[in-house]
Amino acid sequence: MSKEQAFEHAARTFTDGSFERELARRVAVPSVSGPGADDAPLMAYFETILQPDLESMGFTCAYLPNPIAGQSPFLLAERIESPNALTVLSYGHGDVVPGYDDQWEAGLSPWTLTLRDGAWYGRGIADNKGQHTINFAALRAVLDARHGKLGYNVKVLFELGEERSSPGLRQVCAQHRDALAADVFIASDGPRVSIDEPTIFLGSRGSLVFELSCNLREGGLHSGNWGGIMKNPAVLLANAIGTLVDGRGRIVIDGLLPPAIPEPVREVLAKLTVDSKSLGKRIDDDWGEPGLTAAERLLGWNTLEVLTLHAGNPAKPVNAIPPSASAHVQLRFVVGTNWREAESILRAHLDQAGYTDINVKIVRGSPATRLDPASPWVTWIKDAIAQATGAEPSVVPNLGGTVPNDAFSEILGLPTIWVPHSYPGCKQHAANEHLPLNIVQQGLRMMTSVFWELGEAPAQVAWREANTPATTQAATQSATQAATQANA
Ligand SMILES: [Zn+2]
Repeated sequence: MSKEQAFEHAARTFTDGSFERELARRVAVPSVSGPGADDAPLMAYFETILQPDLESMGFTCAYLPNPIAGQSPFLLAERIESPNALTVLSYGHGDVVPGYDDQWEAGLSPWTLTLRDGAWYGRGIADNKGQHTINFAALRAVLDARHGKLGYNVKVLFELGEERSSPGLRQVCAQHRDALAADVFIASDGPRVSIDEPTIFLGSRGSLVFELSCNLREGGLHSGNWGGIMKNPAVLLANAIGTLVDGRGRIVIDGLLPPAIPEPVREVLAKLTVDSKSLGKRIDDDWGEPGLTAAERLLGWNTLEVLTLHAGNPAKPVNAIPPSASAHVQLRFVVGTNWREAESILRAHLDQAGYTDINVKIVRGSPATRLDPASPWVTWIKDAIAQATGAEPSVVPNLGGTVPNDAFSEILGLPTIWVPHSYPGCKQHAANEHLPLNIVQQGLRMMTSVFWELGEAPAQVAWREANTPATTQAATQSATQAATQANA
């Protein structure tokens, strides 16, 4: 019984083809979620893939009905060795975005796992089937090497609606708080910083989408007969947007800015490489908040993006002042942003700037989350991963995009750590979704180390440290602070 044996078990599943066969079976299930989706493949992914796999490792499975009527159920699996042992909660999603079958390169199909140029192709391979398959293959390797005894408990929550914003996930976490109780949350989704850099991220930025609209009259007005004496909604809207974000992408409405970047966050951001080379696309150095590094602009700050802009008929311009104009605007924000008050902040700002004709409507929003990079769990997992790869992983304080992390960090109150097994170029929501084999192999090794080390002394130390009065106080304080800031 040694960690080396666990590594060997994990590596063997890769070399003997069993991992590939299992993954192919999973990719072949067209478990697409979304409007008009077929429920049968979604449920088949739970019933014929995940449940038997988990049960064969000693998990007990239960289906939790979705608190939102008409939405898919959740799968809660648990493997309890002792009620007093450290408990880790994990998560994954079995649903995928549509296949877009006709857009894939010749010889590739979304529903057939295909190896090409050192990568496996197929829908869901990166998001999220490949990622959770890696994790449970690693867990199995550890179980085998430890003769069926982990030394800790594992719970896992799977959903089938992540690709349509996780309907019911937050409610199910609130309803089943006790059943989902754990000490730490570790799961995999989203991308690494870059293809070669093992990464952990500790939360995600929040997202707030709002609509700005200006509706002045019923129909268009001849621009020659009325221009100059009648307001133009498109001109008003464009200028109003300019009072929120300037021509260099800098947010200029103070109420939607975050507080200063905390020192521990600044420190981990300073170690990240975020540049044109690492991202594979030339980034704009003269865009965004001045004085911040690219990593700080991308991950430590807020951005305001215009998603849509509409007035008149762009396909057929006519000489008329359009009667109305509208835009969807998105605020991507970090912890501490006063986003819940955005509507009144925007209203007051626009009124003060003289844009009383512009209406503000909040469309949707989800909170920002971020475990303190100084948490003992972060120190612990960096070491566990370094034991597998020879180097500490890159630490991303929060993902630039959004994962439903607030269900775990805010509702369940857990320290949250994500270990992504994908990379920015994986084409996860497009045709040709793929996962490089070296990420799979390295991911298997990393997770084997993580699952092994959870049963070893250092994890128990991190567990105790996270629960000692002094740290608990600090942790609670920062959690409360974050909650207060988020709610303020
Ligand atoms: Zn996705």
